[in-house]
Amino acid sequence: MSKKIVIVGAGIAGLAACSELMKTGFDTEILEACNHPGGRAWSKEMLGIPFGCGASWIHGNTNNPIALLATQFHANVVSVDPEKFMTLDQHGQLISPEVIKQFNRKFDLLLTKSKKLAYQSQEDIALEKALSQYINSESFSSIELALLKKKLRFFEEYIGDSYEFLSARHWDQEESWPGDHCFLTSSYQPIINGLSKNCPIKYNTVVKKIKLHKNNVEVITENNTYSADAVILTLPLGVFKKNTVIFDPPLPACKQDAIDNLGMGLFNITAIKFPFSFWPKHVHAMFLAQMDNPPISTFFNLHHFIKEPILIGYSGGDNARRLETYSDKTIIDNIMRNFEKLFGHGIPAPTDYVNTRWSLNPFSYGSYSYLKTGSSPTDYDMMAQSVSDRLFFAGEATSSKFSATTHGAYLSGIREATKIKDIFR
Ligand SMILES: Cc1cc2nc3c(=O)[nH]c(=O)nc-3n(C[C@H](O)[C@H](O)[C@H](O)COP(=O)(O)OP(=O)(O)OC[C@H]3O[C@@H](n4cnc5c(N)ncnc54)[C@H](O)[C@@H]3O)c2cc1C
Repeated sequence: MSKKIVIVGAGIAGLAACSELMKTGFDTEILEACNHPGGRAWSKEMLGIPFGCGASWIHGNTNNPIALLATQFHANVVSVDPEKFMTLDQHGQLISPEVIKQFNRKFDLLLTKSKKLAYQSQEDIALEKALSQYINSESFSSIELALLKKKLRFFEEYIGDSYEFLSARHWDQEESWPGDHCFLTSSYQPIINGLSKNCPIKYNTVVKKIKLHKNNVEVITENNTYSADAVILTLPLGVFKKNTVIFDPPLPACKQDAIDNLGMGLFNITAIKFPFSFWPKHVHAMFLAQMDNPPISTFFNLHHFIKEPILIGYSGGDNARRLETYSDKTIIDNIMRNFEKLFGHGIPAPTDYVNTRWSLNPFSYGSYSYLKTGSSPTDYDMMAQSVSDRLFFAGEATSSKFSATTHGAYLSGIREATKIKDIFR
């Protein structure tokens, strides 16, 4: 009789694991809390486009398994060119690319020194602590100070938390693939549809408890108990941190330590549609280097790629947490007030907008994992360790090489399915 494998979560990791196991005849079923697949790569038709509520990018398109899936499932992908980014100062004036390049070289040097300092210290230190020492002894022009402020916000927008929480030794551990960073104008939906097509998924099924026995595992939901030979858990790190799923017996102490050590970052998307574009249409992205803390300082320009007058804004870390305390309307009003400062009062009012709030999502409690001060890539390895060859763990937060990404999630699903095939075949 074929072995029964239950997978918790129909995000990319769960879908990858399920597809892989089904190829070799395992009796596989996914239990998913939401009424749709995709998890943090979920998309929905909004603003008249397929809108990615979570992942929308492929980080490096050469040999990246997600780029291969995009081709296989006919997703629309555009390459984004950093040479076509535009940075504005607080008066809405363009900062010259030469000034930016020069500043970036200076800043990268400070980052290298900070990492070295962290390794010379007895234990890991926060990136802020390391970096501040060098920042304080450098001199910066006023334009460089504005660029510095933007750079420091970059940590929030990219990693999902402020540099005061990041490990100075490991914050940049996450790897991309070679090649271009690409945006999916079709959203991830074609990939999610393609991966989930043949997977048996029970939607609206929230797992509450996992009971590990000697010869099987019980997965307990509100209305049912599922018995399986093995279970793959793809729960986001935020869900583990909140203890909303009970483990009987409790997870091993080393796994619980890894859950505590790693950080769960916050990254949100605020997309705004206008009747027409009032910003330069040819730029791929627009960055705002302002001293006065704009609500959102990074915007991706969809107009260039699909001729829709839509700006996609990104916020992260403390700033995103602060914005989440405001209503959608207040967030948009704040952004518009800032745009008026930069582009003048003649700009049109938005016709529609979308705003995500990932920290409030009870099935992720945040956006993606990161290496907090004191944690290390081995914490990710610990997250991936199986328990008694019955409980297996996949998902972005189990990938020491590719955490926080869709490719990390995908490969982790294949990794756990392969382990199960080796053990149970
Ligand atoms: C705003 C945002 C932007 C991002 N941008 C990018 C990007 O551009 N490129 C990139 O590579 N990555 C990006 N990421 C990260 C990427 O989306 C994730 O790393 C990846 O999708 C995680 O997949 P996963 O399968 O590990 O987890 P998930 O997709 O979170 O899947 C876990 C599933 O488990 C379900 N679940 C949770 N709790 C329960 C429960 N108790 N019972 C049953 N089911 C449960 C959830 O509903 C979910 O469907 C972004 C993430 C966010 C939030």
